[in-house]
Amino acid sequence: MHIQFNSKLPSIEMTIFTIMSKLAKDNNAVNLSQGFPDFDTDPKLIELVSRAMKNGFNQYSPMQGIMELRERIAEKFDALYNSTYNPDTEITITAGATQAIFTIISTFVNADDEVIIFKPAYDCYEPAIELHKGKSICVQLEAPHFKVDWQKVKALISNKTKMIIINTPHNPCGTVWSKEDMLALESLVRNTNIIVLSDEVYEHIIFDGKQHQSVCLFPNLKERSFITASFGKTFHNTGWKMGYCTAPAELMHEFRKTHQFNVFCANHPIQIALAEYLRAPQHYLDLSSFYQNKRDFFLKAIESSRFKFIPSSGTYFQLLDYSKITEEGDVEFAIRLAKESKIASIPISVFNVDKLDTKTLRFCFAKKNETLEKAAAILNQI
Ligand code: PMP
Ligand code: GLN
Repeated sequence: MHIQFNSKLPSIEMTIFTIMSKLAKDNNAVNLSQGFPDFDTDPKLIELVSRAMKNGFNQYSPMQGIMELRERIAEKFDALYNSTYNPDTEITITAGATQAIFTIISTFVNADDEVIIFKPAYDCYEPAIELHKGKSICVQLEAPHFKVDWQKVKALISNKTKMIIINTPHNPCGTVWSKEDMLALESLVRNTNIIVLSDEVYEHIIFDGKQHQSVCLFPNLKERSFITASFGKTFHNTGWKMGYCTAPAELMHEFRKTHQFNVFCANHPIQIALAEYLRAPQHYLDLSSFYQNKRDFFLKAIESSRFKFIPSSGTYFQLLDYSKITEEGDVEFAIRLAKESKIASIPISVFNVDKLDTKTLRFCFAKKNETLEKAAAILNQI
């Protein structure tokens, strides 16, 4: 028999990341689609995890995460941004940034609440809003610079606006917001009850001497903001699904009511290991130059190709404009490249309003140089 039900997400399909990674595997293509490194995480960190397991940290951690790890995170905010978060009441360890984002939306978004998001947008925001019967209010940013028109944003704010979701450095664009952007946002939300969800998973991957503009640097933003972060992105282990979020105590108190019933707590031995590993800030402070070298290596290698690009300013993604090559739609072109040319990428239209197609593909350069060389050899032939 067929069980009858009404889908809560009728228009949602399989994520593009799953589709493209499978296509890469099935076609034996170089996979620069889904964002994950093809090199391993630091053996020292693996050793710390296995030591924690051998030492018996194999049961639930405290619901909020272990105190030692929350303390290391608080110290990091203090050192990098001169910003104080109370590890007891304002930091929670999560099962990756995705779970933090889902939980924040689930905790605060009610039926008919409006949530402003900037497109192209990372794909986990809208389904979570829809599941809670909220409404996504989308601001489409224009390629290739993806600058925000703050007057347009202002016009979209109403008494129904519950939340604004921002993401800098930005996936998939590789852009970063300036201090002026943050000040503009700050002035729009001042004296409102709007909550800001600031997705900062790429905070440590920012190039050319630019400074990451965390919401915690702006008092009128910090007082209403959640910051979400991902250890997977920072320490090359996306499969471990570890992250955290920070927020002022009142907001975090409410968050934890939901968090304790959708995961209760995150992986315990990995928390023990990360608490130790974070004692050496070099592990994340070196990340920008590590990835800037990869970006430069990749871009130099495709310099004579027919793709057009503006070098990424942050994240480990590079957008390439293929409008000189073909008129094909980006999804069609990405599929053909994976099947015929043996290189997988992510078409950007899937993250845009009405699947706006700007003939742009996203390539992940968190790869060994030999993988980037292979990819470049293919791209130069297209
Ligand atoms: N936000 C953005 C912008 C991302 O690119 C990702 C993917 N890492 C996430 C959130 C989710 O992070 P995690 O893998 O830790 O769940
Ligand atoms: N964040 C990764 C990316 O942008 C994908 C993670 C996922 O597959 N959900 O490629």
